[in-house]
Amino acid sequence: MRTIEELGEFRLIDRVTRHLPTAPFVVEGVGDDCGVVRIGNRLLLVTSDMFMEDVHFRPANMAFEDIGWKATAAAMSDIAAMGGAPLFCILSVAYPTKMAVNEVEKMYAGVMNVLSRYGAVLLGGDTTSSRSGLAIDVAAVGQAVGNHYLRRKGARSGDLLAVTGTLGRAAAGFHALENGRSAPELELAHTRPRPRIPEGQWLATQGNVRAMIDVSDGLVSDAGHLAEASGLGVNIETQRLPVDEELTAYCDAAKVDATRMMLGGGEDYELAFAVNPPQSERLIEDFDHEFRTGITIVGSFSNAWSGVRVDGEEVDYRGFEHFA
Ligand code: ADP
Ligand code: MG
Repeated sequence: MRTIEELGEFRLIDRVTRHLPTAPFVVEGVGDDCGVVRIGNRLLLVTSDMFMEDVHFRPANMAFEDIGWKATAAAMSDIAAMGGAPLFCILSVAYPTKMAVNEVEKMYAGVMNVLSRYGAVLLGGDTTSSRSGLAIDVAAVGQAVGNHYLRRKGARSGDLLAVTGTLGRAAAGFHALENGRSAPELELAHTRPRPRIPEGQWLATQGNVRAMIDVSDGLVSDAGHLAEASGLGVNIETQRLPVDEELTAYCDAAKVDATRMMLGGGEDYELAFAVNPPQSERLIEDFDHEFRTGITIVGSFSNAWSGVRVDGEEVDYRGFEHFA
């Protein structure tokens, strides 16, 4: 009998969602960062993210406020990935029965902190006990501003692959926590990620940005999703990856490969997108002016191959998968 471990996360999702019935209000079904539905004349973006003890976090590494923060930030980031504005969340929690009440309150403080930053509210949830650690699921609904949103699909051959900010900081922070090294700023990138909500909305209104995703699994994996959804291949050029001085210094000291962290490290919650080349320089300037944050061109899309190449070499872009 085949196990889900052998099948892998993404093939498992494909298998169970291949023949889903649809409905007239469904605009985008399974396959993007959010599902999209039309209610009246509004487009709503719907997503959920589950966060499990010993899978997504170890209590030893994360304060309870961080756990609430990060689970909520991950759900917000899927709304950012399509350029939406968060509206509300439903929070479901499975608690180990010996968890202290004040720890639960701290976790909620983390949730509420993120929601209030992005103008969203908590609308309800579900509470149950757990026999195998803390689990928290954040279901979130946002709206497409001016009914504009970006999908993973839509990149064209010749488009450039661009990313906001820098990559690998969260992975380095996790490495520091796991290995008892001190790197407070990198640790914050891991424990308190900032979803790119206003940036995503801005990018979605630029006509020359054609497809977008948030970097939650790592650049190789998430650029692979953009390419696959668009029916293209993508090549990432490692010498173009944005250099983060702190990350480089950490990796030198810890003797780990910074490039691997930038390519494979997830949970930075930056945005990766496809941009039409002639307008890319202007976009980078305008974005920097608006947000004081860099955008870096790190590769390009092509119809000459499928899958992901790094410096021209084929790689398995499935990256980090559950069960793998
Ligand atoms: P993300 O990393 O952006 O949260 P995922 O990789 O978790 O996205 O999911 C990829 C796609 O598969 C999404 O469209 C998501 O809604 C869908 N999906 C994931 N898990 C399930 C499931 N258990 N049942 C149905 N659809 C799912
Ligand atoms: Mg996502």
